[in-house]
Parts: sequence; C-alpha cells; structure tokens
Amino acid sequence: GLLAGSVPQPTIFARMSARAAQLGAMNLGQGFPDTDPPAAVADAAVRAIREGVNQYPPGPGAPALRAAIAEHQRRFYGLDVDPATDVLVTTGATEALASAILGLVRPGDEVLTLAPWYDAYGALIALAGGIHRTVAIRELGEEGGDGRARGVRLGVDLEELRCAFTDRTRLVIVNSPHNPTGIVLDPAVLSAIVEEATAHDALILTDEVYEHLVLEGAHVPVATLPRARERTITVSSAGKTFSVTGWKIGWACAPAPLIAAITGIKQWLTFTSGAPFQGAVAAGLALPDADYAEIREDLRARRDLLVAGLRDIGARVSVPDAGYFVLADLSPLGAQDAAELCERLPEEAGVVAIPVSAFLRPGEGDHLRSWVRFAFCKDRETLREAISRLEHWA
Ligand code: PMP
Ligand code: GLN
Repeated sequence: GLLAGSVPQPTIFARMSARAAQLGAMNLGQGFPDTDPPAAVADAAVRAIREGVNQYPPGPGAPALRAAIAEHQRRFYGLDVDPATDVLVTTGATEALASAILGLVRPGDEVLTLAPWYDAYGALIALAGGIHRTVAIRELGEEGGDGRARGVRLGVDLEELRCAFTDRTRLVIVNSPHNPTGIVLDPAVLSAIVEEATAHDALILTDEVYEHLVLEGAHVPVATLPRARERTITVSSAGKTFSVTGWKIGWACAPAPLIAAITGIKQWLTFTSGAPFQGAVAAGLALPDADYAEIREDLRARRDLLVAGLRDIGARVSVPDAGYFVLADLSPLGAQDAAELCERLPEEAGVVAIPVSAFLRPGEGDHLRSWVRFAFCKDRETLREAISRLEHWA
C-alpha cells in the first residue's frame, strides 16, 4: 500500500477529548486548564501581534525570552545559566523532549523512565531506536492517621531504581512533579538517580513542566543537585504555569555542548517557535512571587474539591503533591479494569477520565489496573458537575 508500516493511532488524550466534545461529557481527561492565563501574559501576546512581532524569531529563541529563562533559573533555583549558549526555546516541552531524545539516543541505547510515564517518552524513545526500560511506581503504604487523611502513598523503591541502570543506559528521563501520579520525587530518589547516572556515564533528561504547581513541599530541580549539572538537560514549558497549553512555548536548559546537540535536531523539526508568544512568556516568567503563589493556591482549592469528591464516592485516592492530576483506585466501586471503565464512563456517567494503563505497556502495571487519572485543572463548576455526575453513577 501507500503507507509502509502501521499508522500511529491518535493519542488517548485526543481520542478522549473528542468523546467529551461529542457527548457533552465533563472532560477530566486531557490535562489542559479551562481557566484564563494571567492578564499581563495574555495582554503581552495581543500587544506583540499588534506591534508586528509576527515573523520568524531566531531559531534558538527570542533573546528576551532566553534572558528571562536564565533569570528564572537564577531567581528560583540559584542556577547560573548563560542565555546565549545554555538555553533553547522550543515548541512546547514536547519538542524539547523530542529533540533531546532524537539527538542524544542512538539505536540500541537503553533509556530509563519511571512507569507509568508520560506517553510521549515511549513514542520518542521508539522513534530514536532506543530500548525503553522502566522502574515501577508502586503503593508504598497509606498516609495520615486513619488512612483517609492523605490516602495512598505512591513512590519508587530505591534498590529497584539503582538496579535498573546498566552500562548500556544512555539516558534517564526524570519527571518530577510526575504525570500521571502527581508525586514529587523524594530528594533521596533524585540523588540516587544522579549517582547512578554518573557511575554509568548516562545523561539525565528532566521534565519539570509542573515546577510551579507544587502544592506540598518544594520543587527540587535535578540540575541543583551536586554533580548533576554537567549531564542534565532540564525541560519546562509555559503551558502549565500560565494556563497557556495551546501556545506551545517550552524550553531546554543544559550545558552548551548538550544544547548544541539538541538545537541541531530542533532546527529540522520546527526551526523556530511562536514569535508573539515568546515575549509574553518572558513577561510571565518575570511576574512577582505573589502571582506565582496565587496560581498555586487557586489550583490547590480545585485539587481539594476533586479529592473530596472522589473520596465521597468511595475511591481510594492518592492525594497529589503537585500538577494537574489526581489518581484514584476505583476497585472499591467494583471496577477492576480501568481501561474498560474509562471507555464506558463517558456514556454511563457523562465524565471523561484516563486509565493509568494508558501510561504503561501491556502487562507492565497490573498493580495499577484499577487506577484512573482525573484532571483537576478545570474550573470549579466543571469539577462540581463532574463530581455530582460521578455520585449519581457510583
Ligand atoms: N511533559 C509532561 C509531563 C506533560 O504532562 C506534558 C503535557 N501536559 C508535556 C510534557 C508537554 O508539554 P507541552 O504542551 O509544553 O509540549
Ligand atoms: N500532557 C497532557 C496530559 O497529560 C496532554 C497533552 C497531549 O494531549 N498530548 O493530559
């Protein structure tokens, strides 16, 4: 036929958002907010278009945005980043991840991720011809006095993590705060990753797109850990922090030789990224601390609303420390197979959610088979309506 090989299927997020639109279901599936960006950020983009910022910006990114990213790394994390050589602006975090993986992984190299993992990692490792190895996120116990106060605690076993590294490990992909679980990785886990990566001479690709949406504890960038810097590529995005997922402005920070390798790929993927949005994101990165706190507090209230609603219907909930998502085990409601459940939930309950199995390979996550990911980055009315529909259904 015309097409050699198989055609990739639409992602679970695209498929489930289409179902939500078609059925008028509450979309707690795909992780995009339905709330507005900070006014200063939105106004800056509108102004840029009106003022003629509409042609190709420099491939590595507008100088003003690269400077703002370097200043952000200094202001929040004390990291010294040279905007001329250590920063690359990309079309969302996705393109930074793609360029890094395609640029740094050779066929047959092993790439390590946690499991479950954000879906793009698996697809990109396959495109690069890498071998995808995983370390399982498991239930570590119950939190809080009565087991209800905080719920199920998820995390990784340090020994299992250390044993997953081999001499063929080329790259380890870290994602903290983590999608889909909402966990913030323990500093001990991050340190073990840096130690093992150093011992095996592997690179570290750290996806920190939820860095400003940490509700419990603090975000620890991998690049701030001792000896991590020289082998670490840090990826982030404006999408989550400023509620502008459709703008697709992301970036990578790394030592100059790594940025050069990543830029070599990025230039052939998109060459450059959304001119009028770049200055607006620079304005966002310069917002005062109080604005960042407001973004977090607003999100916290929505997390608490959804967590309470899921508990009320009898789910076992893992209370997320960060990000956009809450994981719930629906086995107490008789649902053993979340993938099957999430196919019928839109019709039966009028709610769309994503099974955790979508972030795993077949056979890889039997311990998470009855777990579902619900997005809480939605406005309160949507969350309330979704909870009320789930109560009727349960
Ligand atoms: N990494 C993670 C962990 C994500 O959850 C997402 C998407 N929400 C991305 C990367 C992609 O980010 P972007 O939309 O900026 O490409
Ligand atoms: N990152 C978003 C999520 O996890 C989805 C982005 C996408 O649709 N590719 O829901």
